[in-house]
Amino acid sequence: MRIVADLHVHTVASGHGYSTVFENVQVAKQKGLLALGIADHTPSMPGGPSFLYFEARGHFPKEVLGVRLYFGAEVDIRDAEGNLDLPDRILRRLDFALVSFHPQVFSGGSKEVNTQAFIKALEHPLVDVVAHPGNPRYPLDYEKVVEAAVRLGKVIEVNNSSFLVSRKGSRENCRFIAQLVQSFGGMVIVSSDAHFCMEVGEFGEALRMLEEIGFPEEQIVNASWENLEKFLQRAAQRREEYRVLSDH
Ligand SMILES: [Zn+2]
Ligand SMILES: [Zn+2]
Repeated sequence: MRIVADLHVHTVASGHGYSTVFENVQVAKQKGLLALGIADHTPSMPGGPSFLYFEARGHFPKEVLGVRLYFGAEVDIRDAEGNLDLPDRILRRLDFALVSFHPQVFSGGSKEVNTQAFIKALEHPLVDVVAHPGNPRYPLDYEKVVEAAVRLGKVIEVNNSSFLVSRKGSRENCRFIAQLVQSFGGMVIVSSDAHFCMEVGEFGEALRMLEEIGFPEEQIVNASWENLEKFLQRAAQRREEYRVLSDH
């Protein structure tokens, strides 16, 4: 299976990332990726970027060294109501938005509380992907979260770092979630969650798990350029519709 793009990559702007956009692009090119999505953390993460980092995206290039570039964010869910760490005016200008929990921002609650927060965040029209939902630190009703994602046309991430350096104990949860997405007919995206450039395009553990459970390639957003384009077009369309709605 070939993955054509990595849409969860951090830079030094995240405050605990170790590479620049350009270094990440160089590795993406070496590994044959066609596209790269930068998804830095949002302002409430310690050392995270200010709103201005996202507002200045006019400077962010569309293509470098022949690699297509997309500008997103890994937006923290701030509370049990699913409130997000970026205002709508910024979310609207991104190419895509991942949402996730981090203990530095929201310590989480019961399974019911976490599930409600995740689903409320997914219901936001400017959210496209739910990132690393298998984190055992935040117990979730996986059926409910996957059902909501599929109903809303949103994507569930399979995060390669969750099998390696981050969020210990995620492996079995990630497998279970992927099986649910498979049976509900939803979509996953495979991501590196790179915080250093050499991690860009590393998907080995995530792909091994998907292969073990016989996960279909056509349900993976970034296993083909065609699926990736559909995903990005849909994200752009959501923003266009939201703009029209909120302008009236
Ligand atoms: Zn991080
Ligand atoms: Zn991340």
